[in-house]
Amino acid sequence: MNFLLERSELRDLYVKVAANERVSEADALRLFQSKDLNALGAIADFVCQRKNGNRASYILNRYINYSNYCILSCQFCAFARKKRDADGFQFSIEEIVQKAREALSVRITELHIVGGLHPNLPFAYYTEMLRALKALDSRLQLKCFTAIEILHLAWMAKKSVKDALVELRDAGLDSLTGGGAEIFRKEIRSAIAKGKESAQEYLEVHGTWHRLGERSTCTMLYGHIESLEDRVDHLRYLRQLQDETHGFTGFVPLPYQPENNRIPVNTPPTGFDTLRTLAVSRIYLDNFDHITAYWVGMGLKLAQVALSYGADDLHGTIIEEKIFHMAGAKSPQLQTETEMIKAIREAGRVPVQRNTFYEPIKEWDTIEAFASETPIEKAKASGQSLASA
Ligand code: SF4
Repeated sequence: MNFLLERSELRDLYVKVAANERVSEADALRLFQSKDLNALGAIADFVCQRKNGNRASYILNRYINYSNYCILSCQFCAFARKKRDADGFQFSIEEIVQKAREALSVRITELHIVGGLHPNLPFAYYTEMLRALKALDSRLQLKCFTAIEILHLAWMAKKSVKDALVELRDAGLDSLTGGGAEIFRKEIRSAIAKGKESAQEYLEVHGTWHRLGERSTCTMLYGHIESLEDRVDHLRYLRQLQDETHGFTGFVPLPYQPENNRIPVNTPPTGFDTLRTLAVSRIYLDNFDHITAYWVGMGLKLAQVALSYGADDLHGTIIEEKIFHMAGAKSPQLQTETEMIKAIREAGRVPVQRNTFYEPIKEWDTIEAFASETPIEKAKASGQSLASA
């Protein structure tokens, strides 16, 4: 047994996990409440390495927000705008295709596309966008739309959620994004995202997508007004649906960003809170293969440390992140492949470039095997902007 665990108050939970027994919600709360972060991390790392070995992944991707117009006004959101606002935006399909074309030149494999709940874009805008992007490169994986966007699109087009999902899939949709889960507990959800879909609706959209044979990721927005019990409750719903569908590829905890919104929280989650949340998620979500340390919300330095606290993935290059940065995130808007590989190697893991479904594309045995001048580095060095929005 790891010496950190021998005298830890969490020793019995390590024994349970090592015996492949499922931890309960009460156990998860105990893990959250423990101040023994290193022991917690050791358990999470044990689970992580049992599932994924010594590998840690990243993806070459680009974010595109097609519009920030939204009919809702979630209290925590710094991204949404109304049509009357001067800094609202909406891209044509041609503009989106142009952004994708630029990003393909730096070898991205995924576009991650979300927007607000637009008041009047027709359903055909979304299907034509997907078709146009697939026409650009049929290998490009399209990870698009949150559950609430799917509900909104279906409602606007007077379609069932299932029919809307089938049409979007037929147009090229590969995966749903996990955004919009926030915190499932009704009282908290109402206080931070009044009018948004319920927990049941979020889970129903993902469940319907999974039952079509498709996959998605899921999230939890933490570090605002929720309690630790609320976090455990949230994870419980995700584990339940995963038991049923096995459609989630990974879980992405999102640390709350406190600026430019209406939730009275002075500071974002601390390093301690970020690491323990990743670690508890890794231990409790025993039916999830992957836990992502989202560098946008925590910075690459802490995301790197998180690779020893249960995370096995650093997310992606992203190129142009708006939603977290409009809420005050201080991280850069993109990461280069070199920076992520170095971070993974220094943490003692083998870097693996992955696709949307966390499947390996390329494993880097040594950092020397990686050509230091990749297209993103070159573009950065020459001052070329990839985020030309
Ligand atoms: S969080 Fe999403 S649904 Fe809520 S206001 Fe912002 S863009 Fe709209």
